[in-house]
Amino acid sequence: MKIYDVAVIGGGSAGVMATIRTVLNNDECILFPGTPADKKRSRAFWVTSVENMPGHLHFKKGIEEPNKISLDWLVQGPFSSKFHWQKNRGIKKISQAADGLFALVDDKDVIYNARYVILCTGVMDVQPQINGSIDPIFQYANIQLIDYCLRCDGHHVLGKNVAIIGHTTSAAWVGIMLHERYGCPQMTILTNGEAPQFDQESIDLMNRYQFKIVTEKIESIVGDAKIKKLEAFKTATETVFADYAFVGLGMIVYNELAKMLEANVDSRGFVITNEKGKTSVDGLYVAGDLRANVKKQIYTAWDTAVDSSDDINILIRRKKRSQKLF
Ligand SMILES: Cc1cc2nc3c(=O)[nH]c(=O)nc-3n(C[C@H](O)[C@H](O)[C@H](O)COP(=O)(O)OP(=O)(O)OC[C@H]3O[C@@H](n4cnc5c(N)ncnc54)[C@H](O)[C@@H]3O)c2cc1C
Repeated sequence: MKIYDVAVIGGGSAGVMATIRTVLNNDECILFPGTPADKKRSRAFWVTSVENMPGHLHFKKGIEEPNKISLDWLVQGPFSSKFHWQKNRGIKKISQAADGLFALVDDKDVIYNARYVILCTGVMDVQPQINGSIDPIFQYANIQLIDYCLRCDGHHVLGKNVAIIGHTTSAAWVGIMLHERYGCPQMTILTNGEAPQFDQESIDLMNRYQFKIVTEKIESIVGDAKIKKLEAFKTATETVFADYAFVGLGMIVYNELAKMLEANVDSRGFVITNEKGKTSVDGLYVAGDLRANVKKQIYTAWDTAVDSSDDINILIRRKKRSQKLF
């Protein structure tokens, strides 16, 4: 039976970095980047221009393009025998035997075995429903007039009128931070029919900064995506003018495989790990957005992935050392 040192599940920022580091550590690695459907529901797929990291401005798809360049290099490079790229394959089942070995079943029912697993399946931002559909948002999200990540795209709102779609304290803080950093003349919170759940501190600041809070459902978006223009959100009785919008509705956490192994997760579903990404399950590591208590960014995905690959490499080397294989 073939046993890989490390199986990496997920081919976004964390998964590709975990693969690069594992292979360059000279450990044998099999990568499952996900089926086309897995990819489409991942954050990596939706990321276009990346402006908050050095050297990324020329990529039209700031995660997928550099990832492919690096994986293609691994295929041709000096460590190619250590790299197994299961293109378009996703993992649907995972289990662990009593001896610690993991069995992974892919979407074509092929079974693979690995001593260690780095799970990098990520998260997705919750989309607002408009008239029962999430589609109206996408044409503006695709051209980055509606965004999700303050650290990635907050700077786009410099001096602009902004709407935040969300009803919790976190959504309120997105508006407060954008207003304080970028001096947005008008900030509106659209709760889209949800009851507001803001804490007192955010209410006080929103009052001080004269935010408008609209609790009716959004009925339509006014603008023309073809000429990259967002104008307003319409409710039954209001037209909220906005050049730009942010969505602050939380995240869907893709933790199904971690849960199959009964790894500990926090109240929001993020997988709890130590500082190296080791979970409560021996041999299972988590990197990237799926890991609890890390910034949800490309560079943190990279850093958490390197921590996990290196920690696994220590364990592999220790074992070989004890078996006098060096
Ligand atoms: C619109 C948008 C813009 C952003 N812009 C920036 C930015 O400018 N700068 C920045 O630093 N960050 C940005 N981010 C955040 C960044 O995208 C994430 O932090 C990063 O992608 C996290 O990497 P990840 O590997 O954890 O998850 P992802 O990149 O989301 O990758 C998840 C991977 O898991 C795979 N997968 C899922 N399920 C399975 C399965 N069962 N089997 C196999 N594979 C599976 C998917 O196919 C995918 O390859 C942005 C996010 C969004 C949504």
